[in-house]
Amino acid sequence: MKIIILAGSGISEDSGIPTYYNNSKNGLWNINDLNKICVKNKDRTNESFDFYNIFRFLLKTCKPNENHDIINNIQQKYENVKIYTFNIDELLESSNCKNVIHLHGKVNEIKCKKCLNIQNIDFQEIKLNHQYLYCNSDDSIRNNIIYYGEKCNYGSLINDIFELDENDILIYIGSSNNSFDLNQIIKPLKFNKILINPNLSTFNGDTKQYIIFDKLNESIFSCIDGIIKD
Ligand SMILES: [Zn+2]
Repeated sequence: MKIIILAGSGISEDSGIPTYYNNSKNGLWNINDLNKICVKNKDRTNESFDFYNIFRFLLKTCKPNENHDIINNIQQKYENVKIYTFNIDELLESSNCKNVIHLHGKVNEIKCKKCLNIQNIDFQEIKLNHQYLYCNSDDSIRNNIIYYGEKCNYGSLINDIFELDENDILIYIGSSNNSFDLNQIIKPLKFNKILINPNLSTFNGDTKQYIIFDKLNESIFSCIDGIIKD
């Protein structure tokens, strides 16, 4: 039996990281016009570096929460658990999750646009014309994050999903991500779907095919065990 977990930005909100699209909880993201900062062709601007510098500063003090810990426990308890995330923070790794695949990049990495090398910078502040000990291409460094309008490679996720058979499980932890309509892809596929989404109004799949929780909690284990027994 295989389990794929796909985790969206909602899981990190309780750690103090606002989601991109949430208007209500935290003002930090709202005062920035993301459509001008995190978009294609704006990857080497002062605004873009400053925005993610704030994100890095914020992350320094953020700790994993129950969501990250439960995902880690699922990976510990069952074999063949693969974790994908849209999140650019590394709180899943901080919670001891292994081999997490970041579909939208990581906020603590920079990338050279020329040679495509990636370097971990932890929580360091990045400035446009600063010198970094790197590949000597300081004029080509950007955040290693997929910006709006940039091409994102969902290929390995989609391949993995298509390889699931009817005994396998996909756990989709609600995401406000609107760049990727997963529900359309998984709708006709015959595997067990566990959806965790506190706001079902954003969900456009057929609820009959899903086991639905509004929050990730310990009951997920009896749910998985029930599927395994059947
Ligand atoms: Zn380079």
